[in-house]
Order: sequence, then C-alpha cells, then structure tokens
Amino acid sequence: MTNDTHERLTIEGQPTPKQDPRVRTQNWQETFLGFSLESAKIEATRCIQCPDAPCQTACPVSNDIPGAFRLLELGDVAGAANKFRETSNLPEMCGRLCPQESLCEGDCVVGYAIRPEDMKPQRPVAIGKLESFVTDTQRMTEGLPMPGVEPATGQHVAVVGAGPAGLAVAEELTKKGHEITLFDSWAEPGGVLLYGIPNFKMQKEILDAKLEYLWKLGITFQGNTYVGRDVTIDQLFERGYQAVFLGFGASQGNQLDAPGADLPGVIIATEYLVRGNLKPEQLPEWMRGPLPDAKRVLVIGGGDTSMDCVRTAVRLGAGEVTCVYRRTEAEQKGRIEERIHAVEEGVRFEYLASPLGFEAGADGSIERVRFSRTELGEPDESGRRRPVPTGEEFSVEADTVVIAIGYGTDDEIVRMADGIDTNQWSQVSVNEETFETSRPGVFAGGDCVNGADLVVTALADGRRAATTIHAYLQTLPTKQASAITGLTS
Ligand code: SF4
Repeated sequence: MTNDTHERLTIEGQPTPKQDPRVRTQNWQETFLGFSLESAKIEATRCIQCPDAPCQTACPVSNDIPGAFRLLELGDVAGAANKFRETSNLPEMCGRLCPQESLCEGDCVVGYAIRPEDMKPQRPVAIGKLESFVTDTQRMTEGLPMPGVEPATGQHVAVVGAGPAGLAVAEELTKKGHEITLFDSWAEPGGVLLYGIPNFKMQKEILDAKLEYLWKLGITFQGNTYVGRDVTIDQLFERGYQAVFLGFGASQGNQLDAPGADLPGVIIATEYLVRGNLKPEQLPEWMRGPLPDAKRVLVIGGGDTSMDCVRTAVRLGAGEVTCVYRRTEAEQKGRIEERIHAVEEGVRFEYLASPLGFEAGADGSIERVRFSRTELGEPDESGRRRPVPTGEEFSVEADTVVIAIGYGTDDEIVRMADGIDTNQWSQVSVNEETFETSRPGVFAGGDCVNGADLVVTALADGRRAATTIHAYLQTLPTKQASAITGLTS
C-alpha cells in the first residue's frame, strides 16, 4: 500500500481478461473472466482516494467507492463487498451492467490525471469490475451476509413487479419489519435481470443467490399474477395491504410501423432474448417453442438490447448477423464495450439505414427488408442529429428479423390501475421527492415512471421510495399483526 498519489498514478491498469471470441461464441458463459485477488488489489491501489470522490457523486446510489477500494487494497475483500452492499442491493449486477464509462468511471480522476511524460495515458480505475469481483468473491466464499431486521410492524406492502426497483423496495422495507409480497406477471421473479439480460453478460446464479437471500428474509413471491387484470389495486387494499408500490418496469417492446412488420420471422427483442436465453418452463406457454433455426439474422436498432440480440444470434448459430442503425456509431446509445464485443464476435454493422418494409418469401415468412439510406440532419429533441432519407434504397436478406428499437410501459397495467395518473407516454406520474402517485397509499418508481432506463436508476428509485413508504406506514394507525387474505400461494 502506498499513500503517495504520484506513485499510485504510475501503476498501470490491470488487464481485465476475456474469453477469446472464438471460444465464447460457442458457449453462454460470461465474456469477462474476472480479476485474480492479486490483480484486483493492484487495481484498487490505482485509486488515489480523492477526498471529494467524483466517482461516488456520479453513482446513482452513491457507493463509497474509495472506501471499498481502501479495504480491498488491504486484502479485506468481504469488507469491500459490504461497503458496496451498504448502498446497493444489487452490486454484482451493477458491476456488470452499469455503463460505468458514463457514470463512476467517466468521472474517475485516474482516467485523466497528468502523468510523467514517458508514461502512456491510462484508463480510469476499473470500478465496475472490482465491484463485481469483491461481491462475487464474498458470495461464493461465505454467501450473502444477512442483515439485521427490525421488529415486525404487522404492516403489509404489495410490490408490483419483481425487477430491480421492486426487489430493492422489498428488501429495504423488509429490513424495517414490514411484510412484503412481490407480484409479477411473469412466472419467475427478477424482471429484466432474468428476462432481459443474456447469460453471457450475467450468469443467472447471481440472481438466484439474491432471490434465495430475499426468501430467507421472509419476502413472498406470487408469479403469474397480472395486477390490474388478475387482481386490482382495490382488491390488494381489501386483502389487507396498507401500501402498494408499482415497479412494473417498461418491458413493452416498441413496434415498427412499416408494411410487413407482422410477418412470421419478425420478432420483438424481448421475445427473441427470452426464447434464446431461458429454459421453456420459465416462459409463458405461447413462448415456449424454440426459435426458428436462422442462418441470416438482422437486428434493427442500435442500443444495448440490440447488442444482446446480435450476440444471442451468434451463439444460436446464425452464420450472418447484421445490426442496422439509422444514425452513425457516434450517435449510438449503449455501451461501447458491448459494441466491441459484437464486432469481435463477427457481427456486421450497417449504419445510416432506416427500414421501409418487410417482404415475405414463397413460404410466407420474412425474406428481406427494404431500407432507405439516411444522412444526418439537424439535432432532434434528444440532441442527436436526426436521420433524414437520402432517396437511395437497398435490401438486406434475412430469415429472422429482430426489432430492438426501445421499450415502453405496459398500457394495460396503467389503464387498469384505478385513480392513478399517467403522462402522455403511459408512465405513472409521481411526486419526484416522495414517489407518491395520485392515489394515497400507492407509490411508484423505476422504469414505469421514468421510461426504460438503467438497472441502477431503478434500484436507486426503489431505495428512496422504500424510505418514504416506511414513513407513510408510520403515519397509519397501529394495527394488530394480521394475515393477508386471498393469496393463491
Ligand atoms: S474518482 Fe477514481 S481515483 Fe478518485 S476516489 Fe473515485 S475511483 Fe478513486
């Protein structure tokens, strides 16, 4: 260990080993292989322990990153893991899934500090990979540490949606002594962590361990339950819940409004990912059939979901995988790391092209997509330059086309939610400080409020909402502990 900042700045970034592309495209294991303890400690020593910790300010859950790295440097891996767990319910996931380059690592001083002239520029501290390393090591060696739980309050909260926001609310409120039931329309809990993230980005054992921990804490899960259809919010209150949290996400894949978009072989990203990555028994019956055996897969869209789809297509054995995006790489959202992985795995990128229509072959299934060539015009409301058709057209042949152009909220849940205001995009309207909806006792947070966003922003909402739900429950008359009625499991 050194206390000399200049000495720390001369330590080179440790390699973050990956599976060779030729090997990893033949399996579904994670791309990154992880640090050794020795290299993790060296990497942590690169942190110069900035007093104002800009990395922490940039982190949506304010992880004490220098505090964790100080402990890791000393070899206290579990202590470092616990430091992350103090402020994050899902640190293994965030370490893998956060776009660190635009959050903590984007603001890390080590990435832009002035160094001796003979030293090449160095990347920021690998904050995300160290976060995964310490929390994975702790989980695999001693298990997830169980927290202290306050005495039972006898109060019950229904959490609608078992994704990142819902899991965070459930965990935090349970620690306060409340009883929580998680409801989800899917058969299994996890939301996007199960149904949206492919195994080559995060192995499912990580989620399984977290869920096991939540069940040990006493949280109950009721799957295959569509709140608003199978049970209304009024009925949840009638059954004895004192508060409801809506965290049902934004999992409705946007459709393309182009002729032929409903042809067989044209699939929305969520369906493609879950059928490609999960076991049939984890899916609703209508999704259980295997995906068509595609040789040429075309993915339309340029974000992280598109990268998940193209990399899934490669692993499913497609010989030719193309990603088509209507702007250029400079405007692409999503992680650069993921695009690099896709290129390494042989994916072809076609920029400045916008779909005009889908055409069927003799068997009635998709055979080709017609595109309009675009060029960049004036910036739109997102600040990115708008794609404008040039008049040139071309076609690309494909036997599977995946539409990955973003997500919206599920209209039906919101329409069926009595007395809850929504905005023009069907997102739930809340008080930004308290997460209260227009209906007393009903709170909401995460993607169903903000639109499709990061795991960590949903998690941050869940943690803050739990604080205000707990405060709300304390204003209610004290009740005798009572059982919830009418649950099917
Ligand atoms: S910004 Fe970088 S160097 Fe500074 S405390 Fe954070 S991780 Fe360490």
